[in-house]
Amino acid sequence: MSVKLNLNYNVSAHRVLHDRKMRDMLPIMRDTGVETLWLFGYFYGRFESTLAEIEAANKYLVSEGFTVNRAISLPVGHPGNALDGDISSHTDLTIPDTWHYRVDGEGRNTYFCAAIDDVMIKDNAEAARQLRDIGMTKIFYDDDLRTSSTSRIIGGCFCEKCLKSFAEEFGTYYDRQTLHTLLRSESNEELTEAWTAHNCNAVVKLLKAVTHEGLTSGIMVAQGGKRRNGIDIPLIKKELPGTFFRVGEGNFRDEDFEREEGKSGLIRSLLTHKELIGDVSKTYSETTVFPARALSPENMVEKMRIEVKNGIKNIYLMSGVWLIDEPYWAAIKKAMPELIALSEQN
Ligand SMILES: [Zn+2]
Repeated sequence: MSVKLNLNYNVSAHRVLHDRKMRDMLPIMRDTGVETLWLFGYFYGRFESTLAEIEAANKYLVSEGFTVNRAISLPVGHPGNALDGDISSHTDLTIPDTWHYRVDGEGRNTYFCAAIDDVMIKDNAEAARQLRDIGMTKIFYDDDLRTSSTSRIIGGCFCEKCLKSFAEEFGTYYDRQTLHTLLRSESNEELTEAWTAHNCNAVVKLLKAVTHEGLTSGIMVAQGGKRRNGIDIPLIKKELPGTFFRVGEGNFRDEDFEREEGKSGLIRSLLTHKELIGDVSKTYSETTVFPARALSPENMVEKMRIEVKNGIKNIYLMSGVWLIDEPYWAAIKKAMPELIALSEQN
């Protein structure tokens, strides 16, 4: 079955209902070719808008002709501020006191990113159930559900509690420093594999807990993301066959994208993940500008062009909580006939 080029974007329910600028932007987005809107869901342990607002905004957007009934959540938060790209707003990036910050191999808390533990899994599962109950059928889980801050670093939480839970499974206890040194040197293959599998299983456990009846879940895969970052695409497909994926995260700013490695890294990562996913209908791009306006409209279109040429059909535009503004919509609209034609050839 051929899959048509489809533009996705995400919006805040609260802003859809209460912000004139957002309301005025909706026809512009639709006119550009955005068909599917994802509503901000559960971020850092709290709902971005109230459930009543999400339900009302969903109905309103459906009446405006968009495909909705879907949400995007940030189940673990995110290392650093990768959400609030506009200094004029004040998004709360802390995690609940009942969760715990992921501790890196050096013993530092990763602000503002939670480790996957039973409490946050339970809270995320409950949030997903509530979103399902108000009509959401798909939820994308964004940002560092992978367990490391970059794809170069082996993931996992090195706090005492998590180290003990790993020791119970593996049979030998390692303190943080020893474990970190052994993992970094990759001198103990069995240990590296066990630690990697432990982290990948935690991601699958979370995904299973949030995937209630009537819901399918999607997961973001960071650029270059792999098992060492907690993302085991074949395992996720085996355990949760309906899961959809977002690939190609990275190059949010002109200076990153314009480097040769920006474009070649994007293509390499995208093709690797696309091959593992094996289903274009379940594969989404991550076409992000962050912080606000850091990637020019021309470069955003060029990124879309690369993604479409490499066979991605679901283009997912992102901008943190900043609303993409007119020059971007105008540039995308102008490029759409070319992108549609390219999509039909690839
Ligand atoms: Zn921990």
